[in-house]
Amino acid sequence: ESADVVVLGAGPAGLVLGLLLRAAGIDCVILERASRTHVQTRARAGFLAPNTVRILDRHGLADGLHLGGRRHGTCEFRTEDGRFRLDYGALAQGGQHHVYPQQNLVTDLLTHYLDIGGRIRFHTEALAVRDADSPRPSVTTREPDGRPTRWTARYVAGCDGRHGAARRSLPPGAVRHHHHDHGVTWLGLLAETPPSLDAVGYAVHGRGFAGHMARTAEVTRYYLQWQRGTPADAWPEQRIWDELDLRMRAADHGPLRRGRLLERGVFDLTCDVVAPLRHGSLFLAGDAASLLAPAAAKGANLAVLEAEILAEALADALTQGDTAGLDAYSDRCLAHIWRAQEFTGWMTRLLHAVPEQGRGAGAGSFFHAGLQRSRLNSLRTSRIYQDWFAENYVGV
Ligand code: FAD
Repeated sequence: ESADVVVLGAGPAGLVLGLLLRAAGIDCVILERASRTHVQTRARAGFLAPNTVRILDRHGLADGLHLGGRRHGTCEFRTEDGRFRLDYGALAQGGQHHVYPQQNLVTDLLTHYLDIGGRIRFHTEALAVRDADSPRPSVTTREPDGRPTRWTARYVAGCDGRHGAARRSLPPGAVRHHHHDHGVTWLGLLAETPPSLDAVGYAVHGRGFAGHMARTAEVTRYYLQWQRGTPADAWPEQRIWDELDLRMRAADHGPLRRGRLLERGVFDLTCDVVAPLRHGSLFLAGDAASLLAPAAAKGANLAVLEAEILAEALADALTQGDTAGLDAYSDRCLAHIWRAQEFTGWMTRLLHAVPEQGRGAGAGSFFHAGLQRSRLNSLRTSRIYQDWFAENYVGV
């Protein structure tokens, strides 16, 4: 089987890329390991930055989020020195997020893609990308019936995440892989309950960080800083809610609305960058290119931005023989990626008392707790600091 562009993965990166290529008349196919139901119900991101909404608007892909999403522009920090709010939507260089669950965005994108006749194969796992250093790369797959198949292409786009086939297929030495461990672990929770705050809530506490993020009128995401290595189900629901109450200082600032916990997941706040984002005819985008810790909610936004840049470059190459965009792709995206990584690292140290090098001290280090408190006080009192925060918080 063949296509000019074989796209691996139907997350935000792969679907935006497939849509823009298809709209430009390029022959492409998306290969997705999971089922359609699985990709449409996987709850992950929820905060879309203004630039992401602009990109989706530009290509007529934002109707769902304008209908079902909510604008959001406030965050509240709760610390031992009291609480303060930042209206980041109104600060200089700021802007508002659209809160729209990632699974709804993925559902919208997939519907658009199928409506314009896009080709997609579910239950099709990419095993390896072959001959990426040649003009005729191919992808070996396991098809739904278990049969091995080979897809030939002019270009392959690896949008299949951190553990996908694209990354695995990079020969040793072809790219550098930069990895960093922020030294913090989170328990991520989805609770069947309306938001308790009309703001993103960041609670900094001696027992560790706790976070509150709206998703829909019925579902709210919470995070708890968690002991690394402890399983997600180690605590009963009651204990989790009690801990959230404690760290979010519910006694001082109002109760949290409790509800059934729909999902729990433990993840270490690690990040990485692959550089360059290209090996011959294989290009990486989204989480396959760079993984960000979720502290600053950048991953899905970068995925959409990179997909747009890559789609334009591939269309230029395939329709006009102009490969300048493909040659510039990696450098253009890496500039955005490093900026997002830098801010995510800063945000991680704002929310947790971790050393610059990550690892180790957790919430317990007196020195790093002092730095953290000072950073929070600067954010509370300095307008320039607040403007810088707003610009980076919503920017991609
Ligand atoms: P994915 O969405 O991971 O899609 C990759 C696709 O590839 C998947 O469908 C997968 O099934 C498929 N695949 C994998 N391997 C193969 C294979 N071998 N063959 C074929 N298909 C394959 N980001 C934000 O911007 N804002 C947020 O608020 C935010 N919150 C988050 C909260 C959580 C709990 C998590 C986990 C992440 C969050 N993120 C957030 C990050 C965001 O979800 C990701 O960065 C985003 O999904 C990346 O999109 P992607 O298309 O690159 O990858």
